[in-house]
Amino acid sequence: MGAIATALQACHRRIENACNAAARARHCAALLAVSKTFPAPLVREAWAAGQRAFGESYVQEALDKMAALTDLDIEWHFIGPIQSNKTRPIAEHFAWVHGVDRLRIAERLSAQRPDTMPPLQVCLQVNISGEDSKSGVAPGALPDLARAVADLPRLRLRGLMAIPRPSPVPAEQRAAFRALADLAQDLGSSGLPLDTLSMGMSDDLEAAIMEGSTLVRVGTAIFGRREYPASRDGAAELAL
Ligand SMILES: *Cc1c(COP(=O)(O)O)cnc(C)c1O
Repeated sequence: MGAIATALQACHRRIENACNAAARARHCAALLAVSKTFPAPLVREAWAAGQRAFGESYVQEALDKMAALTDLDIEWHFIGPIQSNKTRPIAEHFAWVHGVDRLRIAERLSAQRPDTMPPLQVCLQVNISGEDSKSGVAPGALPDLARAVADLPRLRLRGLMAIPRPSPVPAEQRAAFRALADLAQDLGSSGLPLDTLSMGMSDDLEAAIMEGSTLVRVGTAIFGRREYPASRDGAAELAL
């Protein structure tokens, strides 16, 4: 078995063990393979091992990979920060977007989603650790944003996403994920039912699953360490 197939299997085992520990169903959280910075042949290898959902953070890089992989039935998720001049390619080429944090971006994505495609599946990114520099809507502004996004015709609001401040302490990891789960529950009580909690990465997926994650976004544990070309804008900031 190849290295990627082996890593995927190990990842599924971690997810299953965490679902067990949380007394949740065996496949309680889906696996999104984060392939940013890794070339198309490695995506193809992961696909051959059974993986179907892939996450990308850079629009041009993603479009190049998609063009090289048109023969595969891949569900593409955009998980990076969204610049308003990049909404059209995102609306036209992705099934899901996880980083929506402003109404203006959501409106553009809805307007630009082709009629021939199903609605774009959306998670709102929440700035759960209160970091000034990070993207994400502030928790206090979330209800208004969620109501407005839910009304947009070509988007389907599915859930919330967060990238908490990294912590080696499981209790701290869980507190941040619990805060996101609580926000989703509050929205549900106010009449906006959500079915997706996009939370947990290579280093903290167990904590996220304990707190109700339904989708973990895993890069390093599948593909290995990322190397960012020095020239890429924003790469340092994104080197999670
Ligand atoms: C890169 C990235 C990931 C994957 O992180 P790993 O630690 O490599 O698993 C997950 N989510 C987002 C939003 C990312 O940008």
